[in-house]
Amino acid sequence: MADRYLNFTGTAPGRFLTRRLGLPQPSALRRWSPEHPHLEGELLHLTAGESAHEAEVASILARTHLKPTSDPSSSPSTSPSSSPSSSRPAAVILDATGISDTPALSDVHAALHPVVRSVAENGRVVVLGAPVSPSDHHQAAAQQALEGFVRSLGKELGRGRTATLVRMRSAAAAESTLRFLLSPRSAYVSGQVIEVVGEAGPDAACDWDRPLSGRTALVTGAARGIGEAVAEVLARDGAQVVVLDVPSAQADLVRVADRLGGTALPLDITADDAGERIASALAPGGLDILVHNAGITRDRKLANMPADRWNPVMDVNLTSVLRTTDALLKSGTLNRGGSIVATASIAGIAGNVGQTNYAASKAGIIGLVRSLAPGALAEYGVTLNAVAPGFIETKMTAAVPLFIREAGRRMNSLAQGGLPVDVAETTAWLSAGASGGVSGQVVRVCGQSLLGS
Ligand code: NAD
Repeated sequence: MADRYLNFTGTAPGRFLTRRLGLPQPSALRRWSPEHPHLEGELLHLTAGESAHEAEVASILARTHLKPTSDPSSSPSTSPSSSPSSSRPAAVILDATGISDTPALSDVHAALHPVVRSVAENGRVVVLGAPVSPSDHHQAAAQQALEGFVRSLGKELGRGRTATLVRMRSAAAAESTLRFLLSPRSAYVSGQVIEVVGEAGPDAACDWDRPLSGRTALVTGAARGIGEAVAEVLARDGAQVVVLDVPSAQADLVRVADRLGGTALPLDITADDAGERIASALAPGGLDILVHNAGITRDRKLANMPADRWNPVMDVNLTSVLRTTDALLKSGTLNRGGSIVATASIAGIAGNVGQTNYAASKAGIIGLVRSLAPGALAEYGVTLNAVAPGFIETKMTAAVPLFIREAGRRMNSLAQGGLPVDVAETTAWLSAGASGGVSGQVVRVCGQSLLGS
């Protein structure tokens, strides 16, 4: 369903009126398109404290499509009142990995305060942090402070601008994450903290325009909605896709598969032998990317919820995810270097009236990811992450009553709902071999929704 308010605020009278009334001012987000696949413009690279990663970060930034500079004063972009938006920095990277005590946090303020106002519409602020130390409470306090800082900045920026914190051990392992965040693909991801747990860099031969080439992907629940968008973006990025959905959705599923040059696998994911049937459909080459997207809702307050509305939600959203993940790892169907992305929800973080079943199932996904990720990586060489969508414009949310729908759309830092493609872009980044250092993460694709923040 079209977001008429967003369209209205995109017109001059709409902007005037909503500003006078103090109403939300969403900016049309700049997403990936074949004509505009990259963020373009200046990239301000700043450092707070001493960074051990400065040179390596600089060489990664030089490989993006942005024009890095480290001197805010050399650019007209820091004169906010006079500079045209085209000369404002499209992104600012602040390397705060060297901040190891709280007095050094003043460097964060000193670096960003003079430039933050000048960041272009739809621009990015990315703060690089270090892992929080369990043994040095001064370092831990200072690094944790960055989280509150970034989450607040995301709420202040407005005009389609986003803020993210990336905690990293090595710059090389963070390259794919930085490329994602510094691109239009991350338009609806803000206020997030992403930890790059690995240290190895990407393959030197990595094709950044088609980072999934040579990989085979299975997407569940792909006959429509977010799953269809995920299959489409994975195919765009070079993956060979196998799309799975219930047999009753076969006609739509075949249409999606044909359009993407992929294969349709009609199958109810809750079947006891779903893992084995997927394994035999994917033999002999196996699977590199497994996206658990299929999901259902059966909303009702707990007091009114019969077991036949509770059990199917648990089965589809959680138990089948555990069962097929276990089966595909143990059978060796998931190749080493592969990636699993499971779909949670902000309801699994914040809870929601009428969704005890759904929120429990989605919180369960987060538990699964956090518990299994280290073992999956060590034993099977497979990463495991979750995406947690917020309010996404789909058939599911079009059915939500008007006022609740409007609240879902506006109650986030970007003041609008996301699109299925936003979840798909995040899934594609987490699915790339080059993202092998990212595991155990729950990444919200919610425009920094106030729910669960
Ligand atoms: P949707 O209802 O449009 O699509 C879900 C798909 O899953 C359907 O094609 C359906 O047939 C399939 N499916 C259901 N049960 C299945 C089963 N047993 N076996 C195989 N396939 C099955 O939903 P959507 O909005 O695209 O949501 C996709 C995922 O994102 C779900 O996990 C959902 O919980 C999650 N999510 C969505 C939103 C949102 O705002 N739309 C928000 C948070 C999370």
